[in-house]
Amino acid sequence: MADCLFCKIVGGEIPSTKVFEDDYVYAFRDIEPQAPEHIIIVPKKHMASANEITADNSAVIGKIFEAAAKIAKELGFAEKGYRIVNNCGEDGGQTVGHIHFHLLGGRSLQWPPG
Ligand code: 5GP
Ligand code: ZN
Repeated sequence: MADCLFCKIVGGEIPSTKVFEDDYVYAFRDIEPQAPEHIIIVPKKHMASANEITADNSAVIGKIFEAAAKIAKELGFAEKGYRIVNNCGEDGGQTVGHIHFHLLGGRSLQWPPG
């Protein structure tokens, strides 16, 4: 999508600190980290939000969770634990209209979220 921030990051038009990439997903460090480790994982193919997940495109969501486990192991916080978050829509707090999963780790995370 021409005017999508995360499509531009995936395409390299906007710089990012990449931590992982394969044919399906791209992962990079959040610009405003909320934890010592805060990584954003996105499908390379544009999808606006979790509302657009269907039987035809849901395989990429598995790829995102595979990437999260790999990244957590590589960065060394898998054993201590982490959180994977998807914010969907206005009430969910989504601010970028390209589906993304936050991978947060490196500290003890509180529950429930605000
Ligand atoms: P949301 O609030 O939509 O769930 O998450 C969007 C996330 O993207 C936020 O945590 C925000 O800090 C991050 N973000 C927004 N713009 C940029 C950017 O240009 N580069 C990077 N690396 N992260 C961004
Ligand atoms: Zn996009």
